[in-house]
Amino acid sequence: MSNLMQGKNVVVMGVASERSIAWGITKSLHNAGANLIFTNRQERSYQKLTKLLEKNDIEPRLIVSCDVASDESITDAFDEIKEKVGVIHGVVHSVAFAKREELKGEYADTSREGFLLAQEISAFSLAAVTKAAKPLMTEGGSIVTQTYLGAERVIQNYNVMGVAKASLEASMRYLAEDVGKYGIRVNAISAGPIRTLSAKGVGGFNEKLGIIEEKAPLRRNVDQDQVGDATLFFLSDLARGVTGEVMHVDSGYHIIG
Ligand code: NDP
Repeated sequence: MSNLMQGKNVVVMGVASERSIAWGITKSLHNAGANLIFTNRQERSYQKLTKLLEKNDIEPRLIVSCDVASDESITDAFDEIKEKVGVIHGVVHSVAFAKREELKGEYADTSREGFLLAQEISAFSLAAVTKAAKPLMTEGGSIVTQTYLGAERVIQNYNVMGVAKASLEASMRYLAEDVGKYGIRVNAISAGPIRTLSAKGVGGFNEKLGIIEEKAPLRRNVDQDQVGDATLFFLSDLARGVTGEVMHVDSGYHIIG
């Protein structure tokens, strides 16, 4: 696997800490020989990322700031990537956001503002990023986003984010059709629950981990590295015939009724 991504330039969006799913993906991509470009929003995430890269002996090609709430920020980020790196072959979209108070209680209590915010950051951003990345993917490419079972089923407390993930998965399919003709694939990984900064915001998160251990076919939770390797598959030529797909990396939990 050490040269699966040799010579490929991949943009990773969403490393906020060592626990981030995007950090698991970073390690898989690095081990496969990819050149890595990172984007982050908060200064705190930038500091964390640079420390992690140093600690793990990973030399980034570029780190740019990008707030997906702003078209201008997305355009600026990809303009800078184009100028400093040129062609890209992959994008890892691992960003989402919802207000903490919307991730508990009843979905019917979701505010208009909270609904729109979750949709904007967690779903629309994939369309905006695809649009910005497309002109840089002149040799074809692969875009991978991160979703969750709450898009397909009612999962207690996931509420507004479940609806945003449903929108993300539908967007992923429409985008796959749009950019397929340019040799670009778009897919999603549906990971089981993993303890990250974002996951802390979801009410009753620990119970979800317990249910997987008890009921999933593999009787254990998944980790960032397993999601990283599955994302690597989608980004690599091994998945050259796959687009518009949601692949579950959840110890098989989604097949259990
Ligand atoms: P993290 O908190 O580690 O990562 C979330 C990332 O989203 C952060 O890097 C954050 O950047 C970024 N982000 C939020 N708002 C914006 C914005 N406006 N512009 C740019 N970036 C933004 O959590 P995870 O690793 O868990 O989350 C990554 C993805 O995985 C999300 O889509 C999540 O829904 C999904 N997922 C998570 C699961 C889990 O159980 N953890 C299960 C299934 C899917 P910053 O910190 O700089 O704001």
